Amino acid sequence: MSIIVLRLGHRPMRDKRVTTHLFLAARALGAEGAIYSGVRDRSVEESISEVCRDWGGNFKVEYTENWKRTIREWKKGRGKVVHLTMYGLPIQDVISEIRANPSEKLVVVGGAKVPPEVYHLADWNVAVTSQPHSEVSALSIFLHELFQGRELYREFEGARIRIVPQERGKKVIRVGEGETEDLSPFESI
Ligand code: SAM
Repeated sequence: MSIIVLRLGHRPMRDKRVTTHLFLAARALGAEGAIYSGVRDRSVEESISEVCRDWGGNFKVEYTENWKRTIREWKKGRGKVVHLTMYGLPIQDVISEIRANPSEKLVVVGGAKVPPEVYHLADWNVAVTSQPHSEVSALSIFLHELFQGRELYREFEGARIRIVPQERGKKVIRVGEGETEDLSPFESI
């Protein structure tokens, strides 16, 4: 099932780190791409595309000036909308229904203040606990529940570098054409 994340109301000064982390978590945990609204921030787009260039996969970030139109067009032409909010129904009660629905999903996460219309446009308003926390934790748990752990085995096509998991220490290899070069220790990570 294909997942695109829609991040509402990005503010470059305050949200740069959290939006970047949200997109990195989305990519690592199985989403295909992300769209964001608010103020356009090329530095977020560039840092995600640098990660994709080195670590592989086809995760794409797009900007929308009009989140309402994005949601409406998604509902008309592509699939269903899940809004993550602490006010929604508990994830444990709705995740099977969401998983059973084969359409593509737009997963909406808020910023500072979520406009009431989002709650009405969403096909599901989903709470990851009814406690306040963060868009990164909410999205990560949502994807983990949706994919039931399969996302942990995902391979990223076209990666230039890859980690070789170690019990202790770091091992990073550069993936060439049929060759691997050991980059360890790789202190820039
Ligand atoms: N006070 C904001 C509001 O009006 O909803 C929420 C701010 S919160 C830092 C940012 C986003 O994190 C929310 O819009 C929601 O997408 C997500 N989030 C935070 N806690 C959540 C929870 N318990 N369940 C689901 N999503 C959550």
